[in-house]
Amino acid sequence: MSLVVQKYGGTSVGTVDRIKHIAERIAAVAHDNHHIVVVVSAMNDETDRLMTLAHEISAQPDERELDLLLSSGERTTIALVAMMLKEMGVKARSFTGRQVGIFTNNAHTKARIERVAADRITTALEQNLVPIVAGFQGINEQSDVTTLGRGGSDLTAIALAASLHADRCEIYTDVDGVYTADPRIVPMARRLDRISYEEMLEMASLGAKVLQDRAVVFAANHQVRIVVKSSFSEAPGTEVIQEHREMERNAVSGVTYDRNQAKVTLIGVPDTPGIAARIFEPVAQADIIVDMIIQNVGQDAMTDISFTVPKDDVPKAIEVMNCVSQEIHAKRVEVVQDIAKVSLVGVGMRAHSGVAAKMFVIMANEGINIMMISTSEIKISCVIEEKHVEAAVKLLHREFELDKASR
Ligand code: ADP
Ligand code: ASP
Ligand code: MG
Repeated sequence: MSLVVQKYGGTSVGTVDRIKHIAERIAAVAHDNHHIVVVVSAMNDETDRLMTLAHEISAQPDERELDLLLSSGERTTIALVAMMLKEMGVKARSFTGRQVGIFTNNAHTKARIERVAADRITTALEQNLVPIVAGFQGINEQSDVTTLGRGGSDLTAIALAASLHADRCEIYTDVDGVYTADPRIVPMARRLDRISYEEMLEMASLGAKVLQDRAVVFAANHQVRIVVKSSFSEAPGTEVIQEHREMERNAVSGVTYDRNQAKVTLIGVPDTPGIAARIFEPVAQADIIVDMIIQNVGQDAMTDISFTVPKDDVPKAIEVMNCVSQEIHAKRVEVVQDIAKVSLVGVGMRAHSGVAAKMFVIMANEGINIMMISTSEIKISCVIEEKHVEAAVKLLHREFELDKASR
């Protein structure tokens, strides 16, 4: 008997009617004699709503309490979906992260999964029950609730699929697959039939939130077959698979953008050996993920160092930088929040040259100033002013002819 893990995102469970709709889909699979495990997110913007409540109380809410609060969103959904299935005559049972046995480390708000027990899921399947699992949550060694980072229900689904050796993991969302750019920004964006894990990982970590980046890493490491589909249509969706040669035909597969970045600059830093370590060690210790780093050319034994961090981490980064700045006798700390990162992604960049140059020319012709650049074998990213981001994404999509390329 085949086993499929299906994950439904916030919009797919946003109202009672939508819950009814997905329950009908789940029931159809169960009636077809397939084993099915369902993972659900919180309804619509519930996680944002809970986050706002917490921030009304504190600028930096206690992370242990925040995790408990946020995890309540998914609890609501599992109970409602299980109730709906039972109403339809389908034997279903809800499970929280704790009940499933999603064991994580202690990094509250971005915990890493260390082990999935899943015995209760296996037992439920043996009893022909449909398990409805709360995404996004686990427990640490002390049995405290942890969460897996925004978009973490994708990770729950993929980790369960790996642990249960499922045939595939279907991610149901509000678009019918992975597109060459966010279809909400670029109406000409094209759905990709398939994409490699590596490209999907780059796109996800560079802002395409259709899949969580950590979930893609997990899937690649455990060879989980992912299909991204819409819960509102029967379209075939996008398969995330191993890279193959044909994928290199086009230099660029997608354009992404990320508004969730801020630039922190330490001004007037003594230009001496070891200074970068003294700046970035405390940043790492504070669990802040740094993306791009630029050290300006020094003058009079002084330099400036800029780096980007997720916007949520800005208060923490300022705290850490104020301490570092005093210790190393830098002049001051500056933060710019209205920036965005626009990126081109494609395994074809390994085989095609000149992509970066073309990107810079396109931006220059439009009068868009590039503040920072970073590249890897299969991506190029530029930090620009936030107000230009939509125009830049549309322009790059058009100039690289992503609406025409085929895969
Ligand atoms: P869910 O709540 O189902 O997890 P998300 O909001 O996390 O859904 O992700 C789906 C959204 O991702 C889409 O509504 C779309 O706007 C956005 N998105 C951004 N980039 C892309 C892309 N390249 N392809 C598809 N969707 C994308
Ligand atoms: N509800 C969580 C979030 O909004 C997890 C998820 O939807 O995947 O980030
Ligand atoms: Mg999501």
